[in-house]
Amino acid sequence: MDDCIFCKLVAGEVPATVIYEDDDVIAFDDVNPQTPVHTLIIPKEHYHSLSDDVPPEILGKLFSKVPTVAKLKGVEESGYRIISNKGTDGRQTVFHLHIHILGGTTMPIGMGPAD
Ligand code: 5GP
Ligand code: ZN
Repeated sequence: MDDCIFCKLVAGEVPATVIYEDDDVIAFDDVNPQTPVHTLIIPKEHYHSLSDDVPPEILGKLFSKVPTVAKLKGVEESGYRIISNKGTDGRQTVFHLHIHILGGTTMPIGMGPAD
């Protein structure tokens, strides 16, 4: 996708702090971290969200590498939260499937609606 920032990042056209990479996925620190650890993991192939007929093998590769990335970021033991925002109500802003890995602090108890 020509105008997708994460595709550009995969292509090396946008700089990133890469934490983990293999043939299928790449993980990099969020440019605007919301918690001390805020890393994104994405498939290298472009899918706009979980609703984009993502092949189960890709989803398996994406989710199965979350603990690997958490370990590399030092939060595997302390714990973390993963989030994947979808669409308007989910407040998705980058339309290339990604999972947020948030940690390094205790996350809030609630996950309810915005005020
Ligand atoms: P969303 O709101 O779509 O779930 O999350 C998109 C995330 O991507 C945001 O947390 C935002 O800070 C991050 N982001 C947007 N552009 C870039 C970029 O160019 N590099 C990095 N590392 N993160 C980005
Ligand atoms: Zn993309």
